[in-house]
Amino acid sequence: MRFLPGLKYLCKEFSSDIARKTSPVCGRLCTTQWMRSCSRTSESTKEGNQDSMMLKHLISKIKSTGPISVAEYMREVLTNPVTGYYQHRDVLGPQGDFITSPEISQIFGELLGVWCISEWMAAGKPKTFQLVELGPGRGTLASDTLRVFSQLHSVLKKAEISVHLVEVSPKLSEIQAQLLTKGEPHLLHDPSGTIYKTGVTKTGLPISWYKDLQDVPKGFSFYLAHEFFDVLPIHKFQKTKQGWREILIDIEPKSPGKLRFVLAPHATLASKALIQQRDDDRDHIEICPEAGVIIQNLASRIAEDGGAALVADYGHNGTKTDTFRGFHGHQLHDVLSAPGTADLTADVDFSYLRQVTEGKVTALGPIPQHEFLKNMGVDVRLQVLLRNASDPNTRKGLIDAYDMIMNPEKMGDRFKFFALLPYNRVNSRQDTKTMKCGPTAPPVAGFSELQL
Ligand code: SAH
Repeated sequence: MRFLPGLKYLCKEFSSDIARKTSPVCGRLCTTQWMRSCSRTSESTKEGNQDSMMLKHLISKIKSTGPISVAEYMREVLTNPVTGYYQHRDVLGPQGDFITSPEISQIFGELLGVWCISEWMAAGKPKTFQLVELGPGRGTLASDTLRVFSQLHSVLKKAEISVHLVEVSPKLSEIQAQLLTKGEPHLLHDPSGTIYKTGVTKTGLPISWYKDLQDVPKGFSFYLAHEFFDVLPIHKFQKTKQGWREILIDIEPKSPGKLRFVLAPHATLASKALIQQRDDDRDHIEICPEAGVIIQNLASRIAEDGGAALVADYGHNGTKTDTFRGFHGHQLHDVLSAPGTADLTADVDFSYLRQVTEGKVTALGPIPQHEFLKNMGVDVRLQVLLRNASDPNTRKGLIDAYDMIMNPEKMGDRFKFFALLPYNRVNSRQDTKTMKCGPTAPPVAGFSELQL
């Protein structure tokens, strides 16, 4: 057991506040027992129209260009600027299609805030840093993280902090702004501009919105991505006697209003670029090149400017095959039926994310969520909140939420944590003259056992 300098202090310092209101507990997992309590309300006519517009759009696209890749299908269905699933609705929570750990328990975002501060201390307390979140949903994780920053202002001293959110959905960015900013955020209509909205957070920090990570200013940053990589478009490949073939989406000939999977008769651009010579025991593979590009971007930024990235998602280490699925009203949903009405997602392949960093940074994990949160002091935090909560419903809510995010049978094992850190954060450098190694760096919070 190792002691992480500073973490014990951080966990105790922000210990006197009370529980925030929590959502009923149910996740983007398929266990009917948890799902029964949450059912989706009937869809508005506007949404219904948009959804059938999506099917028409896909069918006309396939008619004019031929079968499309699963990646193109996912991109269109989820983020098409006019009819995409994420663009115009609040998809999270009991009334939506799925709920996530930060929505379930405030402790989740708080501990991620502590993680950032712990890494900021380990980096020598730089005077300025950015908090960057990819795919912030309703803004709940950022809100819980920023509350910890505010409570620990005596530790952060005069650090200049700015907040940067990468979000493609106009609707969700509106919900994020409502939760996070004071006063009206400033909408920017310059189409060539990289920022589309700015404001000041309720805790007094400058905050900006972007469509793409590339647009976020460079500088020492903490990057958070929770349930973000699993919605990025994947390509699917099947091993055949002729080699790897890409799985595509076509119109069902017997029923022209429906879609079906087909196998590309020849190598496609994606199969040539991503998988052609691959020797793999699996006969079915999913690859997400967009995730690769984003991880490479994060790795370069961290190597050049410092900081760290924390990715939390469901995923595997290059072992799983077909994980592509849909969620609608907290139920599994056929990925090809009624496109645009359901969330589409695939497990993150962490071995691929690690591989694309090309050794520029140190990659830690993936480790199970319950292990990461335990190491971060989740039990201490729960006890503090329970001590301050006298209402039996609040106490029950806190305990149920803890169980949902920690229980290995629920979200505790399925979700993993993966981090990117500067190379020298965990590998001490050898002095080329004396050949002596530098001082050993403190262990990285969450990835080592913590003694509180
Ligand atoms: N992180 C949140 C929400 C997860 S849902 C949570 O855990 O509660 C996925 C989020 O990613 C949504 O906010 C969605 O609008 C956003 N998103 C999806 N594709 C994106 C893309 N290509 N670029 C930026 N954001 C994206």
